[in-house]
Amino acid sequence: MTIQENMVVSVDYKLSNHKTGEHIEATTAEQPMVFLYGVGGIIPQFEENLLGKSVGDAFDFSIVAEHAYGHSNEEQIAMIPLDVFHDENGQFDATYFSIGSLIPMSDSEGNQLRGKIMEVTSEMIKMDFNHPLAGQDLHFSGSIVDIREATSDEIAHGHAHGPGGHEH
Ligand SMILES: [Zn+2]
Repeated sequence: MTIQENMVVSVDYKLSNHKTGEHIEATTAEQPMVFLYGVGGIIPQFEENLLGKSVGDAFDFSIVAEHAYGHSNEEQIAMIPLDVFHDENGQFDATYFSIGSLIPMSDSEGNQLRGKIMEVTSEMIKMDFNHPLAGQDLHFSGSIVDIREATSDEIAHGHAHGPGGHEH
C-alpha cells in the first residue's frame, strides 16, 4: 500500500528551521501525526513529498517559507484597545498578558486565531497575528509509520478518526 488520496497516513517526524537548524517540534513513534491524505489540511508540499511512499520509508526535505506558512506580514500586526481585554468586572488582568504570550482571539467573521503579544501600553495591546512559523524555511525528516484506507465516514468528514485523529 502506498500513500495516495483517501489514505489515512501516520508519520513520525522532526521539524526544524532549515536555515538555523533550530528544533521546532517532533512527534514520537508512539504518538505519530495522523492525517487524511489529500484533503488540504496540511502544507501541500508536505503531502507532495510523501506521495507514493510505503510504511517504513524515510523522508527528508525542506519547504521554503513562501510554500509553508508564508512571510511575516506587517498587516497582520494590530493595535487593539485595552478594553477589549477587560474581564467580566471591567478590569484588565495584566498577569495574563505578558509579552510573547499567545492569546486566543476571533476576527470579525468569527474565525479563531491566536495573537502573540508584542507590546502592552496603558491603552493598547500590540498583537502579531502572523503564523508562529511565518518567515521560516522548514526542514522535515522522519518516516512513514502506518498507511490505511480511509473509511467512508472519514472521507465524508474530511479528517481521520481514531487515535491521533478526531475522537467523536
Ligand atoms: Zn469526523
